[in-house]
Amino acid sequence: MALDPRRPDVEYFEQPCKSALNRVRGMPFDWSLNPYMGCEHRCAFCYVRAFEKRADRPSDSRYGRTVRVKTNVASVLRQEFRRRGWRREPVAIGAATDPYQPAEGSYRLTRACLEAFADFHNPGSLITRGPLIVRDVDVLTHLARRAPFSVHVSIPTLDHDVWRRTEPGTAPPAQRLRALERLARAGIKASVAMAPILPGLSDRPEQLAAVVMAAREAGAAGVWAGLLYLREGTREHFLETLAEHWPEQLPRYLRDYSGRAYLPGARLKSVQGQVRELVRQERQQDGGAQRRRFLEPPSEPRQLDWLQNAVTA
Ligand code: SF4
Repeated sequence: MALDPRRPDVEYFEQPCKSALNRVRGMPFDWSLNPYMGCEHRCAFCYVRAFEKRADRPSDSRYGRTVRVKTNVASVLRQEFRRRGWRREPVAIGAATDPYQPAEGSYRLTRACLEAFADFHNPGSLITRGPLIVRDVDVLTHLARRAPFSVHVSIPTLDHDVWRRTEPGTAPPAQRLRALERLARAGIKASVAMAPILPGLSDRPEQLAAVVMAAREAGAAGVWAGLLYLREGTREHFLETLAEHWPEQLPRYLRDYSGRAYLPGARLKSVQGQVRELVRQERQQDGGAQRRRFLEPPSEPRQLDWLQNAVTA
């Protein structure tokens, strides 16, 4: 694996940070950590575009062309873990950028942060679309023996066209599945995040079934599903992508997302219900043969489970 996969069309700004942990409100977790700001993956549906817009930063095709690298993030994290008031609360890594985007190949900041998690027995979770995560299997297994820690590999679809056109900077889904398989074999609790599912593009029953089956074959601990959110900032860019590649879908999106960022809860429940049923069928088929044992710390003071709607495979 290349150690320096940084891209020539991306500008990297090395900027030390004053704090590593961010207090989060209105999310299923209270603390987050992002070693980078900006994401080279540049997904058309990325919800961070909405935050960028609100902060008066580019949320259009310029998003992801600059990446801030928090060069001292691991040492600051260690100082924060050492604080007397810190109570080893679960921390979600990668809520606002992908911790295994190409820059991580050379900067190794996510790796250094995971080492800090292990040294301080701090629980957490990590979400990524980057197969580079397999480089850190050694640290992740060490960490999983010391604190509850889970990984979520984002694989919204196996459809080649949908992937290529909506996730211009990510590795193919098959590579992510291989990465997940490697993690699962090492005993790391790794689930598939099937999100966002795109109405009319990746929500056909056979498309959902293909992801669930592949997740089961790779040894995923679970599958969870989410639908597209279109907040201002994300909306403009996503609709442009739609107009370019799937113009026939545009009227439907303009109608369904008119005046709102989310589809009605019933639509989400329906998709999640389908995924849940698919997972149940997969489990029934293999009779639990694929179930794996995952690494755990010797004693478990609290169980990390920040994901809503998780479905155990
Ligand atoms: S990988 Fe995640 S953070 Fe990065 S652009 Fe895609 S959705 Fe956004």
